[in-house]
Amino acid sequence: MGAERADLVIIGAGLAGSAAAWAAAARGLAAVVIEARQPGHRRGSSHGSARIFRRAYPDPAYVRLAGVAGRLWRQLEDEAGEELLHVTGGLDYGRARDPQRLHEVLAGCAVPAELLPPAAAAERWPGIVFPDDGPVMFHPEAGVIDPERAMAAMLRLAAAAGVSVRHEVPVTRVEAAGGGAVVHTADGPVTAPVVIAAAGPWLEPLLGGLVRLPPLAVTQQQAFHLAQREGAQASWPVFICCDDTYVYGLPAGRDGEVPGAIKLGEHGSGTATTADDRDGVVCAAARARVTAFAAARLPGLDPRPVGELTCLYTSTGTEDFIFDRQGPFVICSACSGHGAKFAPLTGQVAVELACGGRPPDRRFTLAAHLAAV
Ligand SMILES: Cc1cc2nc3c(=O)[nH]c(=O)nc-3n(C[C@H](O)[C@H](O)[C@H](O)COP(=O)(O)OP(=O)(O)OC[C@H]3O[C@@H](n4cnc5c(N)ncnc54)[C@H](O)[C@@H]3O)c2cc1C
Repeated sequence: MGAERADLVIIGAGLAGSAAAWAAAARGLAAVVIEARQPGHRRGSSHGSARIFRRAYPDPAYVRLAGVAGRLWRQLEDEAGEELLHVTGGLDYGRARDPQRLHEVLAGCAVPAELLPPAAAAERWPGIVFPDDGPVMFHPEAGVIDPERAMAAMLRLAAAAGVSVRHEVPVTRVEAAGGGAVVHTADGPVTAPVVIAAAGPWLEPLLGGLVRLPPLAVTQQQAFHLAQREGAQASWPVFICCDDTYVYGLPAGRDGEVPGAIKLGEHGSGTATTADDRDGVVCAAARARVTAFAAARLPGLDPRPVGELTCLYTSTGTEDFIFDRQGPFVICSACSGHGAKFAPLTGQVAVELACGGRPPDRRFTLAAHLAAV
């Protein structure tokens, strides 16, 4: 019997691969999604119930892309019949975050946002201590994405439209052949004219021998769940504080061990590892830093974590994503610790590339990444 044939193979069913499955279904492609692990597994980057959605970026290109992604989240919610992006509003503060500049950029993109003096912000959000050396920016479109439910919804919709979704089937090898590609699995090979590699932190081991990739730094990150103090603050927006430290926070949702817990993490201070070698052990120094931050600057929270988790970042040197095609391979890496919010757009971009389209911006190409090294 010959190899199974498909229009498109998608490797990986994290947020990026699940979104590609949803986009492939919308195009009527006979696609096959092959995921090594079980649904909801916690070995990659997309697990759990909470990631920040925000428009606040210093670069207008990302502000606009987040706007497109926001509309696609709403479309996904409509199709899935459930809430996947809960709007809370978002705060950006701290010298190095440069709220003033962020405000200018959002205004330039017609995204509603306000700048508040620290005293006014403290009145509105008494659970947070704001540094008094600069303003605080609030933008109402920010909120919390539920990745676990989003992945399940995208795969469910894709499967209902005829996409074949296979979990617990590791891809052992990929090769270019006959103008397309062969994807080898323990269940046998699948051939297709084009393959989307959405393997997250496994991208380099999967494809590095076939495509020249830029350096990808895989780091183990940690996040902590802290209980709210009763009556401290009516509701919690997502927030990013960046001065001596870069700490983000957001309502943790179902993951949070206690109702209303807030998830706190540091951006950019992870431990170098690989997807297969990571140990899943929370860094004690990071726990101490985050606890100290909460004790000093988040009086609305009990600083002792009620829960904690690890997760992997896959970062490029510029923190830009990689969306490009080389031969039969689409490289889809919405990475660097900020890709979740773009997921439904990521899927569309990947499928567009698979169908002969171009990357949405030159910065996402392999050539641009390699030139920046
Ligand atoms: C702690 C943390 C906090 C974050 N916070 C935010 C945030 O607030 N906002 C935001 O926008 N983004 C955030 N991110 C980033 C976001 O979560 C990631 O960008 C996104 O989840 C990446 O998804 P992915 O599908 O590319 O990778 P993954 O979720 O890792 O998916 C890759 C999948 O490929 C599968 N796979 C790999 N190799 C194979 C193989 N050989 N065969 C078959 N399957 C294979 C894996 O099993 C995995 O399921 C955060 C990330 C972390 C770690």
